[in-house]
Amino acid sequence: MKLVVIGGDAGGMSAASQARKRLGPDRLEIVAFERGHFTSYSACGIPYWIGGAVKDRDALVARSPEAHRKSGIDVRMRHEVVAIDLDRREVIAHDLAAGGEVREGFDHLMYATGAVPITPGWAQIPAGGIFGVQTLDDGDAIHSWLDSDPKPRRAVVIGGGYIGVEMAEAMVNRGLEVTLLEKAPEPMRATVDPDMGARVREAISGLGIKIRTNAHVEGLEHKDGRVTGVVTPDGTLPADIVVLGLGVQPNTKLAADSGIPLGVTGGLRVDLRMRVTGPDGPIEGLWAAGDCVQTKHLVSGQPVHVPLGTHANKQGRVAGINIGGGYATFPGVIGTAVTKVCALEVARTGLTEKEAKLAGYAFVSATVESTSRAGYYPGASSMAIKLIAEKRTGLLLGAQIVGREEAAKRIDSLAIAVWNKMTVEEMTALDLSYAPPFSPVWDPVLIAARKATDAVHAAG
Ligand SMILES: Cc1cc2nc3c(=O)[nH]c(=O)nc-3n(C[C@H](O)[C@H](O)[C@H](O)COP(=O)(O)OP(=O)(O)OC[C@H]3O[C@@H](n4cnc5c(N)ncnc54)[C@H](O)[C@@H]3O)c2cc1C
Repeated sequence: MKLVVIGGDAGGMSAASQARKRLGPDRLEIVAFERGHFTSYSACGIPYWIGGAVKDRDALVARSPEAHRKSGIDVRMRHEVVAIDLDRREVIAHDLAAGGEVREGFDHLMYATGAVPITPGWAQIPAGGIFGVQTLDDGDAIHSWLDSDPKPRRAVVIGGGYIGVEMAEAMVNRGLEVTLLEKAPEPMRATVDPDMGARVREAISGLGIKIRTNAHVEGLEHKDGRVTGVVTPDGTLPADIVVLGLGVQPNTKLAADSGIPLGVTGGLRVDLRMRVTGPDGPIEGLWAAGDCVQTKHLVSGQPVHVPLGTHANKQGRVAGINIGGGYATFPGVIGTAVTKVCALEVARTGLTEKEAKLAGYAFVSATVESTSRAGYYPGASSMAIKLIAEKRTGLLLGAQIVGREEAAKRIDSLAIAVWNKMTVEEMTALDLSYAPPFSPVWDPVLIAARKATDAVHAAG
């Protein structure tokens, strides 16, 4: 039997490694194609390498091509798969380094091509210094540009989502003048509600990042092959580097061109075992995982595209176990995510108000201000927690946190509550830990649950 993997990062190589654990090279041949220079890397670590917190790029590589080869996985670097022939059960790949074409037959095909940064037409100009961020090769290109001559001094980050915000912090930490442009009234609109986004905006402004919300970009200027400015209705912002943080979309063109059906989000539809499905059910021997797939939101019930490493790794593992003859499932997601900009931490789980409304829920919200430690204990800092609960039942639909000092990791207890369909009233009795260095005697999660319970009762 032969497994061919397209994409050598989280989704693809988790699947390859799990399949290899279950079936030795005598029973399963594995060939993995990766068009870039790295395998099994942490794209999540790119902002921290660029910002200098992580010194060594190779620290972001969890498993090199050589390490995979030692496990009996035939990794073909700098090979881009350009076509899939489902009838003949083979892929065609271009060797980007040496040139030429290779064909590889398969019994199982693991599709794990990730996502691609959204790049509007105005950003597609013939100039250096304009970057989307998805792969470690993208991170490498940004790092090299920042070291290029003349050394970039002014950065404009377009898009105030979590990748934009993390990249803005990275640039500030490298000593650049940074402007962050966001077209919505508040940053992080896909992550948190505007009232929580306002807290992020206020905090960002104090970190040396100039943030402009309600901002529109009309184009980019360039000279001598380098980007020089970002054109807005309020004038042109000088820029030596432009980072696009406008979101990503599933990298599924190759699949679509090969006749594989896509879901409503543009991602591949998969079943619980990560088998790609079409109108007639799973397609024999075709698997997918990671940023290229569509999954199910377990609170809204809707199909969603949630491109996160945490899902890519789990989904790849599930696919690999199944390819190797075992049984594993990936049930879906509840939208848990966490990030930081300098000392400010932002986290969410479940649905935001906008998402709850779209799903058709009637709900109440409650926001509390509390502290990370007992108020009298040195180092206590403020945090805001917002809970969203269904009006009639009090079911916890979602939660958001903005704060400091590991405030954001409290989202995990809230995620467990959402996952287990707890009501906010049930949560008021949760046996959470307390000692002055760790929380006030009433943990902020418990205070928020009490306030949300009051709101549910008041709403009748
Ligand atoms: C800056 C940044 C910060 C992030 N932070 C977090 C975080 O804190 N937490 C979190 O959970 N997630 C985070 N993520 C998201 C996370 O990195 C991705 O969800 C994860 O990498 C997806 O893994 P994947 O294997 O699906 O796709 P990718 O990592 O994109 O890997 C796909 C691979 O396929 C290769 N490929 C594509 N097409 C082809 C082809 N035709 N032939 C051969 N090879 C191909 C690509 O070169 C790429 O290496 C972050 C992402 C970025 C960019």
